[in-house]
Amino acid sequence: MKTRIDRREFIKFAGAAGAVAGITLSLPACAQTKNGGAAGAKVVVIGGGYGGTIAAKYIRMMDPSIDVTLVTGEKTFTSCPMSNWVLVNMHEFEWLTHSYDKLAANYGITVIPETATKIDPEGRKITLKSGNTLPYDRAILSPGIGFKWGAIEGYDEEAAELCPHAWQAGPQTKLLHQQLEAMPDGGKFIIVAPPDPFRCPPGPYERASLVAHYLKANKPKSKVIILDAKDKFSKQELFVSGWQKLYGYETDNSLIEWVAGSSDGKVVEVDPQRKIAVTEFDEHQADVLNVIPPQKAGAIAEATGLTDDTGWCPVDHKTWESKMQPNIHVVGDATIPGSLPKSGYAANSEAKVCAAAVVDLLNGREVGEPTWVNTCYSLLAPDYGISVAMVYRIDADGQLNSVEGAGGVSPKDGNSAAEAIYAESWYSNIVDDMFA
Ligand SMILES: Cc1cc2nc3c(=O)[nH]c(=O)nc-3n(C[C@H](O)[C@H](O)[C@H](O)COP(=O)(O)OP(=O)(O)OC[C@H]3O[C@@H](n4cnc5c(N)ncnc54)[C@H](O)[C@@H]3O)c2cc1C
Repeated sequence: MKTRIDRREFIKFAGAAGAVAGITLSLPACAQTKNGGAAGAKVVVIGGGYGGTIAAKYIRMMDPSIDVTLVTGEKTFTSCPMSNWVLVNMHEFEWLTHSYDKLAANYGITVIPETATKIDPEGRKITLKSGNTLPYDRAILSPGIGFKWGAIEGYDEEAAELCPHAWQAGPQTKLLHQQLEAMPDGGKFIIVAPPDPFRCPPGPYERASLVAHYLKANKPKSKVIILDAKDKFSKQELFVSGWQKLYGYETDNSLIEWVAGSSDGKVVEVDPQRKIAVTEFDEHQADVLNVIPPQKAGAIAEATGLTDDTGWCPVDHKTWESKMQPNIHVVGDATIPGSLPKSGYAANSEAKVCAAAVVDLLNGREVGEPTWVNTCYSLLAPDYGISVAMVYRIDADGQLNSVEGAGGVSPKDGNSAAEAIYAESWYSNIVDDMFA
């Protein structure tokens, strides 16, 4: 098992992984455990993805006297980041799957591959699918997203088996891949892009780009059409400029068509059997219909009363403790994260800040002043990448906000081949941070 690291070392660790830039130290007592100190305190983390693994691992690295259990739902984790690459045969599916074995072996985390079905905030107790219960002093949830089934008429869980969303990686990714492979040349691959806020703002446009790349090589008479609920999207200028260079965008032979919400792009109904997407004034016949529906926090957050009427979890950004229930922290896509996007990198950054705060609270220390960082890479083709990077802090009005001048998007005529290499390296580093 790894040895304890102190706070100075932790900040170095977090900085190396590009997440927490600064935490100030001060020490008035406000012990929160039932036993009055951190030794033997119990933290249960629900969700073994981009946020949950990091929260569990960094608590153990900062204070191994804390007992950490990670409830993962599954035996292995399947990553959404890079699932668009797998969709178009750039890598095998196995590249997305990761084992929790090293978290148990190297960090002494108890990993339980079960689903948490209920949380009792008063009794500080979590019930698992098996009926077993886990007591906690503090719980951390990173359950990811749920879908607003029925928000698009005709689109429910059953419809997703015909018209996959592939917005949670796994069988849905495989299904969409099979459909793309089976699509005839001359076919239409329609992506229904969701309204804000949603998981991975550039994701649908990266998917459109890579599918266009696949079609160009394999089925050149085909087309990708994005029917969008919105009028603008993340890194739009860079996507458009890349699409012009690579896919004849805005010409008669364009491989990609994007229909904005105000140009009748918003899909209100689908017929999953016939693969038809219906907008206010039109009907679009697809060969492959990829519906990414409107989203909300993962089910366990909603069931525990951690969400507000937006469907997402309001939290205190200094600690990521829920504003709805005490002693429960929420990180990742399920939260209302201020100006941070719903990304894997942001979930990593939030989880580190949350881990540090939980360790402080359990040790009776005041929590520090955090900063966060996020970088999102997108591929437009295997050798053409773009990115956006930003640093965040709590501003003078107490809001989690981007730091002016601290980041930005990659230059329009930048080194897109190098960005593609950085993207792959980003994935390798972040999964090491989570699972190694
Ligand atoms: C196509 C696509 C591409 C993306 N690309 C990128 C990218 O390049 N870079 C980037 O930063 N982000 C990217 N993202 C976004 C990224 O996937 C999410 O932001 C990130 O996964 C959020 O982390 P999380 O911990 O909130 O949720 P997740 O990583 O989804 O983890 C949640 C985990 O909790 C588990 N769980 C849920 N409920 C329970 C329960 N009750 N009991 C036990 N376990 C439970 C789930 O099964 C899941 O394993 C992409 C997303 C998509 C869809």
